Amino acid sequence: MSTTANAHNIIRCSDVSVRYGAVLALDKVSVDIRCGSLTALVGPNGAGKSTLLRAILGWHRLSTGEIRIGDAHPQHVLPRLAYLPQRHMVDWDFPITVRELVEQGRYPALGLLGRFREADHVKVRQAMEELDLVGLGDRQIRMLSGGQQQRVFLARALAQGADIFLLDEPFTGLDRFSTAELTHILLNWRAQGRTVVAAVHDIELARSHFAEGVVLAGRLIAAGPVAQSLSEEVLEQAFQDRHCRHEDPLGLVRTARFPQ
Ligand code: ADP
Repeated sequence: MSTTANAHNIIRCSDVSVRYGAVLALDKVSVDIRCGSLTALVGPNGAGKSTLLRAILGWHRLSTGEIRIGDAHPQHVLPRLAYLPQRHMVDWDFPITVRELVEQGRYPALGLLGRFREADHVKVRQAMEELDLVGLGDRQIRMLSGGQQQRVFLARALAQGADIFLLDEPFTGLDRFSTAELTHILLNWRAQGRTVVAAVHDIELARSHFAEGVVLAGRLIAAGPVAQSLSEEVLEQAFQDRHCRHEDPLGLVRTARFPQ
C-alpha cells in the first residue's frame, strides 16, 4: 500500500469525503490498496471504516474526491467487488439454504431470462468446494455455526467472480477455531492474488496476519506495512483523535466525539 498511485494499486481513494447530513464521516481520505494485498482497516467505533468500504463499492455519493478501481469508477466494475456485511446486518432467520445463498452471487450475471447456465452452476459448485460447504448445501443458514455462516457469504462472493473483497468486521463474534479458519482462507486468497480489505477490531490479529494496515479516525491516520501503521503510537493517536466535524444548522463547524 502506498499513498501514491502506481500500476499495482487496484483501489485508489483520493481526497474522499463522505457526509451523512451534518456528520462528516470521512474527511479527505487518500489511500491506495495494492492488488493482491491483505489489508486491515482499523480505527475506533465511528471512525468511518464501514463508510469507506461502502464508498469503495460506489454506494455513497462523495462530497469530495474520487475512488477508482483500476482505471474505472466502482459502478462500472461491480462484479469485481464483493462485500461481506457485518453479522448484525444479516437476517439469519431468513429461510434460505446454503446453496441458494451462494447462487445469489450469480444473479447479477444472469441474462434477461434469469436462467442458470452450466457455467453458473460450475461457479457455484467451485465456490462451495473452495469454502468446504458441499455437504451443507441443503441446510438453512440459521442452522449453521458463525464460522460456517461467514464461509457461505465468502462463497457467494467467490461465485460472483469477484477478485476484490471488502469485509466488514468478518471476525466479530467468531470463536478461536473459526477465527483461525477464516484467517487461513484470507491468507490463501492473498496467495492467489485476490485483494482483501477487512475492518478488524482485534489489533493483535491484524498485526500477526495482515501485511498492510489502514488506520482511520474520520481522517486517515496511517497506511502501510502493519509494523508501522499499527504501531502503539499510531493507534494511540487514532483513539485520541476520535472526533469528527459536524456542522450545525447555522453552518458553524464544531467537533463532536465519536460514540464509544
Ligand atoms: P465505523 O465503521 O468505523 O464504526 P461508520 O462508517 O459506521 O464507522 O460511521 C462513521 C460515522 O458516520 C459515525 O459518526 C456514524 O455515527 C456516522 N454514520 C454512519 N452511518 C450513518 C447513517 N446511515 N446516518 C447517519 N450517520 C451515520
